[in-house]
Amino acid sequence: MTDEQINLYDLDLPGLTELVAGWGEPAYRARQIYRHLYVQNVVDFEAMTTLSKALREKLRRDCCIGNLEPVRLQQGDAGFTRKALWKLPQGETIESVLMIYPGRATVCVSSQAGCPMGCVFCATAKLGFLRDLTAGQIVEQVLWAARETKAVAEGEGVDALANGAGVVAPEERPSRLSNVVFMGMGEAFNNYDAWWDSVERLHDPDGFNMGARSFTVSTVGLVPGIRRLAKESLPVNLAISLHAPDDELRSALMPVNKAYPIQELLQATREYAEETHRRVSFEYVLLQEKNDAMEHAHALVRLLRDGPLGDRIQWTHVNLIPWNPVPGTPLERSHRKRVEAFQSILRSGGIPCTTRMERGTEIDAACGQLAGQG
Ligand code: SAH
Repeated sequence: MTDEQINLYDLDLPGLTELVAGWGEPAYRARQIYRHLYVQNVVDFEAMTTLSKALREKLRRDCCIGNLEPVRLQQGDAGFTRKALWKLPQGETIESVLMIYPGRATVCVSSQAGCPMGCVFCATAKLGFLRDLTAGQIVEQVLWAARETKAVAEGEGVDALANGAGVVAPEERPSRLSNVVFMGMGEAFNNYDAWWDSVERLHDPDGFNMGARSFTVSTVGLVPGIRRLAKESLPVNLAISLHAPDDELRSALMPVNKAYPIQELLQATREYAEETHRRVSFEYVLLQEKNDAMEHAHALVRLLRDGPLGDRIQWTHVNLIPWNPVPGTPLERSHRKRVEAFQSILRSGGIPCTTRMERGTEIDAACGQLAGQG
């Protein structure tokens, strides 16, 4: 790969058609290349066997299939959680995490290198903002995960004898990637255009063909992004990082709250739910003695029941995430008893609520632990 080469993953089918037209090739050649990339998921030009040797040569000279350089692949949960560390052409690093469960496989991908949002509990925030990823770089992470999922289904790199948490029996291993969550490094709504291009590309029924419902984007709470998503034609899932029941506490944990305080966020969420008739989930990271007391749980119940979402409470869902440690951060993960108490207060208050399953903590691949350091 060189700087002048075109990353094929950055092109949609019309873009690819235009590229090959410039070389005097007919449109069906572009469709063949597109299918090699997204249906067969090939990673080198040699495997594009429907093309002439001359065209393959031309592609090899002028184009590349992705531009993320794999730096390190780590495995946890007996091989059923896999974290990839990638280097961007400009040198920054990003990460992606694949989690295999019985009957499904989810990849968590990055949308930016670093992140400008500054949440105090998050490892990525410590890096500050480094760079936006291109659509192709977001797509590339997903294609990697699809190949890895297939490898796991074929028993590659998994410990068949292990029987700990996370181990998936051979007959239950998913044969293809089922979900993409935009919850890795960065804030997708801060890189909206490239992010949305990646969604459309991955959704394309003539290509990778993932159902819109297979995608979930998580936002720190950028109201303009929520409004924009409400108008999109593909019904992807929306998750909102709430993390506190009042503005004072939320602003202390998440600086974005000063720009988009809670009531404004909930109002936008309500409009989103009304326009799209879709469920919205709230993430709530639990920090010992910071936001996890019984008063906080009761305040959260009141906020959701009495606020703009009150009459739509069954359309929301709270996902509790016990905080995953970030080195050098003077915070503590909520103790199990407090997590259980918090969850039961929400449930008694009529708020649908679950606690997020843990994956990848041993390889620093869990929520909020991605810092691009391998
Ligand atoms: N920028 C997006 C995606 C961030 S990561 C957002 O803010 O929503 C996905 C979730 O993990 C977010 O809810 C984020 O707040 C949470 N998170 C961040 N650091 C965490 C940590 N150390 N432990 C657990 N969850 C964390």
